Formats: sequence, structure tokens, C-alpha cells
Amino acid sequence: MAGPRRKRHKVQNTLKASVTFEGAGLHSGQPARMVLKPAAADHGIRFKRTDIALGNSVIPARWDYVERTALCTRLVNAAGVSVSTVEHVMAALAGCGVHNALIEIDGPEVPILDGSSALFVRGIMQKGVRRLSAPVQVLQVLKEVSVEKDGAKATIMPCDRLMIEFHIDFAEQAIGRQSKTLDLRNGAFARELCDSRTFCRRADVEAMQANGLALGGVPGENAVVFDGEEVESGEGLRHSDEPVRHKMLDALGDLALAGAPLMGRYIGERAGHALTNTLLRALFATPGAVRLVECDAAMVARLPGQGLVWGEIPAAIRKVA
Ligand SMILES: [Zn+2]
Repeated sequence: MAGPRRKRHKVQNTLKASVTFEGAGLHSGQPARMVLKPAAADHGIRFKRTDIALGNSVIPARWDYVERTALCTRLVNAAGVSVSTVEHVMAALAGCGVHNALIEIDGPEVPILDGSSALFVRGIMQKGVRRLSAPVQVLQVLKEVSVEKDGAKATIMPCDRLMIEFHIDFAEQAIGRQSKTLDLRNGAFARELCDSRTFCRRADVEAMQANGLALGGVPGENAVVFDGEEVESGEGLRHSDEPVRHKMLDALGDLALAGAPLMGRYIGERAGHALTNTLLRALFATPGAVRLVECDAAMVARLPGQGLVWGEIPAAIRKVA
């Protein structure tokens, strides 16, 4: 006996048109020109190094291509071709509901711009997203999985939507303890998280630069620097809890490397890029912890970025230079 035919919801998205970003990388200090291009259904998000002529220059934006680096997320393919600091553009694509894009870049690191995802969100939403005739597959979390390292913890558990919860606790009085939980449905990322900038402690800056990192960092321009009660941030903080919001932005960018939108509740406790990647590896290694399902109408309505329109982008971000 044939049951009623299930209606398929063909809501994969890509960009309506290419959008270009230019600037130096935070860690390498090297300039790059990056072009986000529309791509076909089921292409996913992939980077292509246009400055590399020989061999395979395509790098899929996926968890199993992540090189274990502490301070940013670097993807590297089998040929050793890499792209660094992908997390803020990945968060913007996920937060705007873009499932397919080819990201051409002529250097080793994604431009840091203002240290947040605001300019990526603005650029993507100015061009708009285009619907493709293919259903969205999501990764539904079925079991709780947790990883811990050096007093930090990252957990993912079943939930009918993507929720991100984050807790940080810094000795710097200007940061202190901060906690926030957000339901990522619709345009929550654009409204609540996308303009929160990269931050670090003054004590970390010299240590990073001695190790050849943060060479493109300009306090107050592309990173907020905290020193005890002092805050070097240019315009002042964009949110009183800007640091925890940035950690949530990073978490979305790193979770976007799962390969499909995740339906689950992520909890980060002082977690960073490496631990979130370890969590994804643990999730996929745990039998029965996650399954790929095709979105029905109710699930589609809960996807991050679904239904987001230009008018919903905060005015300050629409105008940002
Ligand atoms: Zn970040």
C-alpha cells in the first residue's frame, strides 16, 4: 500500500552573484583577494587557491580537512595546500543560510577585515541568496557527545534546531565571566552575533607575534585587546558581552565544517577552535550519534538563515564602511 507522497522541500541556497573581499590575514599579515562565487546544489562550500597553479588547489570546507592549530581554523588538502582563518566567513555563510559556494582566494589566509563576520554578512546579503532545486540534508544529533581538554569542554546534544550556548571566564576584569545562549533560527546570527570582533589579551599579543602569529593584528581595528580593566577597541565595545558573542560566532563557523547544517545544542565552556573540531571528530566517530536526514517543512523553518532578508540586518552593519 502506497503512503501519501512526501512533499520535498527544495531549499538549498547559493549566492545570487559573486562577492569580493580584500585585505590582510590576521595571523600571516598577507593580503588576499577572496571571491565568494555561486555554486550548484550539493557542491557544498569549497575553497580554491587561485595563486597555486600546480596540483590540487581545491580545499573542501570540512572538519576532516582541519589542521590542528590552536588560534585559528586552517584547512589543508592532501596536496598540502591550505587556507587559514576560515571561521568568520564560514559563520557568515552558515548564518545567512548559504549551503553552496566556491571561495576563490589568491593567498594563504582569509582577510580579517574588521575582525568579525559583519562585512561578510553584508556582502552576502547585499547580493542576496538564490534558491536551488534540491532538498537540504541536515545532520541530526541523536546522542550527547562531549570532549574536554585543559579545563575546557565542548558538548553537543540532541535538539530540534541549532542552539549555541557559550561560557567564558577570564581573569581580565573587562571580560570576566560571560554566558550566552542563542537559538540560531532565521536571522539570529546576523542580528546577535555577526558584528562581534576577535579579541585577545594584551599578554597574548607579544607571545603570538614572537611565534609569527597575529602579524596582521591591529588593536582597535581588527581585534579588541583586553588588558586588566583596559579595553583597546577603537570605537568602544559593540556589545557589553562582545567576547562571548565572538566565541559563539567562532563556534558557528567551526560547526559549519560538519558538511551539512547541524541540528543540535552545542555548549562551549572556555572552548576554542581545536576543541570544537575535536568534538566534530568525536561526534562522527561515535556510532549512532548523528544521522543525515532530509529536511521537512518544519525543519526547513528552523534552519539558520532561512528567510533572512536584507531589512533584518542591523542598520549599523548595513552601513558599516
Ligand atoms: Zn574568531
